Amino acid sequence: MIDKLPPLREVIATHDLRAKKQLGQNFLLDLNLTSKIARQAGDLSGCDVLEVGPGPGGLTRGLLAEGARHVLAIEKDPRALPALQEIADAYPGRLTVINGDALQIDPLAHLTPPIRIAANLPYNVGTELLIRWLTPSKWPPFWQSLTLMFQKEVAERIVATPGSKAYGRLALLAQWRADARIVMSLPPEAFVPAPKVHSAVVHLAALPRPRFLADPAVLAQITAAAFNQRRKMLRASLKGLHPQIEDLLLSVDIPPTARAEEIDLQRFCALARALADARSAG
Ligand code: SAM
Repeated sequence: MIDKLPPLREVIATHDLRAKKQLGQNFLLDLNLTSKIARQAGDLSGCDVLEVGPGPGGLTRGLLAEGARHVLAIEKDPRALPALQEIADAYPGRLTVINGDALQIDPLAHLTPPIRIAANLPYNVGTELLIRWLTPSKWPPFWQSLTLMFQKEVAERIVATPGSKAYGRLALLAQWRADARIVMSLPPEAFVPAPKVHSAVVHLAALPRPRFLADPAVLAQITAAAFNQRRKMLRASLKGLHPQIEDLLLSVDIPPTARAEEIDLQRFCALARALADARSAG
């Protein structure tokens, strides 16, 4: 046992925490598994951890047992609060719980750096938060690492490389300023109730500075245009960005007839710089 608290099945029965579909509730009940996920988040001692969607607290207990200095847990479902209070009592001063929607709450006032983020969230909320965490107003961001459970297909899009079907805006956004790896794969039966799809844990470590220089807004504009029409040649999909787009593509060694999924991050960043220069010159 990782702690002296009751097993999660008992916690769920005691507090009548039947999973609600509309809250995307698929719980992890194996504390050895949640501790293993917590270990993927790196060395937690000396770190504050932001956990989004703790539910009955399986991952929360893993994070605390693995030595997190302090966990801030944001949970939308008020039914989970009594179970989370029991965990807070077992780890005095180390767990703060906020009842609310993680998409609406600014957690920063409650956190002291260094900060890591860990979550097993409903997939739609997880992707929205991931994009927010990857696009802060300044870099490096407030977090050192993100350790997040996703639908396997989304996890594959985050770590995808050029030439694959999964490669696109999410891969470029994630890999531009972070190291992204799939660190665990989980079958549906790992959750209660079991979802329809396989899941995977992705670990993203923030780089101190972007891998290649580029203006974030220009890079986002290019990748949106390129991948929104991913079957088109770049000279067509990027046509609206600059009248001399073919020359700009050639200037950074991108064949104008290439398609978005063939182009790596380095060349997209070079194109973003060339486009920004051309715009400021013209
Ligand atoms: N972390 C727990 C575990 O691993 O067993 C629960 C995982 S369950 C997939 C997702 C949790 O996120 C649920 O407890 C749900 O109530 C909560 N949740 C859903 N939407 C949320 C939101 N917008 N903000 C905060 N929590 C949310």
